Amino acid sequence: MKLKNVSQIINNVNDLENDICPITYDNLSQHLFSNNVIKLSCGHSFNYRAFIKSYTINNKNIYSYKKCPYCFSNISKIPLIINKRTLCNK
Ligand SMILES: [Zn+2]
Repeated sequence: MKLKNVSQIINNVNDLENDICPITYDNLSQHLFSNNVIKLSCGHSFNYRAFIKSYTINNKNIYSYKKCPYCFSNISKIPLIINKRTLCNK
């Protein structure tokens, strides 16, 4: 499966180009199976929830709008997921 130029949730360890999330310093492979890893069109992967938080904050700044928080390249549309389990399990 080609992942070029698409930002998406990944769950295959072979799709990871960086093992460590540049935001949380988590090992991303442990988050793959909970659909909590996003790979951006630039190739960098992040903890999904940490990325969304950073993305939301960065969207208030016109200079960082729609850019990868790590390499600042422009990124394609972000898939939004609502994790019901996360919402229900308090
Ligand atoms: Zn990047």
